[in-house]
Formats: sequence, C-alpha cells, structure tokens
Amino acid sequence: MALEIIRIPVLSDNYVWLVHEAASGETMVVDPAVAAPVLEEANRRGWKISQIWNTHWHPDHTGGNAEIKAATGCTITGPAAEFERIPTLDIQVAEGDAVPLGGLDAEVIAVPAHTAGHIAYHFASEGVAFVGDTLFAMGCGRLFEGTAAQMFSNMRKLEALPGDTRVYCAHEYTQSNGRYALVAEPDNAALAARMIDVDAMRARGEPTVPTTIALERATNPFMRANSAAQLAERRTAKDGFRG
Ligand SMILES: [Zn+2]
Repeated sequence: MALEIIRIPVLSDNYVWLVHEAASGETMVVDPAVAAPVLEEANRRGWKISQIWNTHWHPDHTGGNAEIKAATGCTITGPAAEFERIPTLDIQVAEGDAVPLGGLDAEVIAVPAHTAGHIAYHFASEGVAFVGDTLFAMGCGRLFEGTAAQMFSNMRKLEALPGDTRVYCAHEYTQSNGRYALVAEPDNAALAARMIDVDAMRARGEPTVPTTIALERATNPFMRANSAAQLAERRTAKDGFRG
C-alpha cells in the first residue's frame, strides 16, 4: 500500500484523515476540523503536511485550514462550487479533475446534496475513497443543500466503485445509522450480522470506519434505496429517528 492513512478523532465524532504517500514523503490532510491534534500527529511522525483536501465547506471540515496552512505553508484544494465559502482555498477542483499526491492521482467525484458543491476524492490505484459527509457506514449525509434525486445519483456513482474500495467517512455515525437501517430493512441478514459486529466494536471503543463499497452495497439503506423517492422517505425517517 503506497498510502499510509491515519485516523485522528476530533470534536464529538469527526474523523480527520492524515494521509502519507511513502514514495514522495508527501503528507495531506482530509477535512481538518481543527488544527492542533493534526499538527501534533504529523509532528510526532516526522511528517510535513504539504496539502489539505476539503470535501465541502462545513466548519467541522475546514476549521483547521488557516492554522495548518500558517504552520506548514501547505496548499488547500477543495470544491470549485464552494470557493466563496472556503476563503482559504488555493486550488479549485470539480468532477473528473485529477488531484496529485506525490506520484499518485485522486479523481474528483462530484457528489452534491449534503452541500451544493460536495466532492469526493478517489484513488483508483489504491482502492481508497474519501467521501466526507456524503456516504457513511449504513448511512448518507443529510440533504442540507440538495435533493434526494441528487443523493440517489451520488449513490449510483459510489456503488459503481470496486467493491473492495476502502471508504473513509468523516464521522463515526455507524451505530446510530445501523439502528435505523435495521428498521428500514428488517429482513436484511447481512445488515443484522454487521450490527452485531458494530455493537461489539463500539462496546470495545473501537472505530468502525473505514467501511467498503461492498459492505455498503449489502447493508446501506440509502445506497440500497430503489428510487430517489424511497431514498427521500428513508432520509426523512432517519432525520426523525431516535434509536
Ligand atoms: Zn457536513
């Protein structure tokens, strides 16, 4: 594996991903909610952060941008469609653009709905995708700035990635998502089995992210919704779900 990917838990349930490309020695951060723990982790490893990649403008994904940039001189890449909402952005990218990290390229996938310009980054050669707040383990992002039809389209793009793609989400929402998923699909045996594992992992204080595309195809009620209308129904039900 050419990429070393370190999970940094911050705030109540955010994951910041610190990504090191061994061949070049380059280090990148995905969605730094805050700066201090990210700088500390990089320093502890002797890694110099040269890039930040943002998936969308929300403060719990961009809040550390300015301080990390001031400390390291890194460049910040993010969605062109949210340029005005991320004042620290240096490089604007959109669907199909290649974003280099050392000798590797990630492809930008446009996944609007949670925010109007939300993007994901896919390293096809590594089987790794950073999806921000669009796809979660057994869940999807709330529809703050887009429609269920857009999210349905996003799910089609993401489920088309190879099944063994490791999916790095920005939050630990898995257990709550899974409790709703069991209500949405009570007869899904793969889902029931996964939740037994998830409950055990959380009881041990372990993270449940990354997930994989194959696991989400089998257990995610939003990826598995058969229409935009069903996705909309499920999203509304989850928004009001207290499990
Ligand atoms: Zn968000």
